[in-house]
Amino acid sequence: MFNASLTAMFRIYLGLLISSTLFISSCQNKDESPSEQHTSDTNAQPIGSALLSFDEALAYNYIDTQVAFGPRKPGSKGHRECALWLVKTLSELSDTAYVQEFDAITFDAKRHKGKNILGKLNPRNPQRILLCAHWDTRPMADQDIKAPHLPILGANDAGSGVGVILALLKSLKEKPISLGIDIVFFDLEDYGQPQNSGLPPMKDDWCLGSQYWAKNTQHTFLPRWGILLDMVGGKDATFLKEETSVTYAANLVNRVWGHAQSLSYSHYFLNEPMGAITDDHLYINTIAGIPTIDIIHYKLNNGGFADYWHTHLDNMQSVDKPTLKAVGKTLLYTIHEEDKYMQ
Ligand SMILES: [Zn+2]
Repeated sequence: MFNASLTAMFRIYLGLLISSTLFISSCQNKDESPSEQHTSDTNAQPIGSALLSFDEALAYNYIDTQVAFGPRKPGSKGHRECALWLVKTLSELSDTAYVQEFDAITFDAKRHKGKNILGKLNPRNPQRILLCAHWDTRPMADQDIKAPHLPILGANDAGSGVGVILALLKSLKEKPISLGIDIVFFDLEDYGQPQNSGLPPMKDDWCLGSQYWAKNTQHTFLPRWGILLDMVGGKDATFLKEETSVTYAANLVNRVWGHAQSLSYSHYFLNEPMGAITDDHLYINTIAGIPTIDIIHYKLNNGGFADYWHTHLDNMQSVDKPTLKAVGKTLLYTIHEEDKYMQ
């Protein structure tokens, strides 16, 4: 079903394809919490447009700032400096921000001190959701012909998800909600084994930060659902209904895509399925037990990721403000609706 060349970063999770039928009975209704019962709210009156004020230029600037640190390859100067900036910025935009450090060993047997960067909005509200993205960038350009051993800038692949979430928090600061939001920027998502490494295939070598977070985080109040953003800034991006997301949180997928449709963003959020992808949401679903979906740019008809994926062309030229706006406004709509129904 999938081109094998697509499997380098987000390997198709064949195990899930096989085992999904086992999980369906126990997980299908996991996102049927009371808040999920209003899944037909795609027909509800759209909330005021003022509430949906999302500053895509700000999101773009947040991405540009990350890229200006250079590659955020774990262990690099850019990685260290960007972590400091992220904690500072997140602390300004939420009620609390902190670093969850962890030890990790990557496929190349290198040891790392990983840094998940966490924030909370309205931390005392037990009614919560989760927004997340990874912030590290790929340490090699293994999909590039030129200089494949050098790290990528990762404007879209890492920068965009973080940028949209930060800009969204700015919107929520201006139009406050009472819903609680947990924010996580995962480290070491993108240090998985390249296909051409010559090493035997490994298991769970991607998404090391989310695996640690899912296994070790104590939740005072468990988020009722989560949304992962990954590669959400590409020009004319298409977001398909990814299989793991549908398996664990079908209602949330339909709500988000419905909200996008209400906002006239159906040309970004296509009502089309795609296969399962190994991304941070897999571990959030299977280990942390939070029904979580992945919004990720993937081309229609099994067309794979964007052409600049894991190449040196993943720079600011790959980032498009209208796409950032579509994703940001759709998320804002979803969050305000959740806030409204939570009352
Ligand atoms: Zn990547």
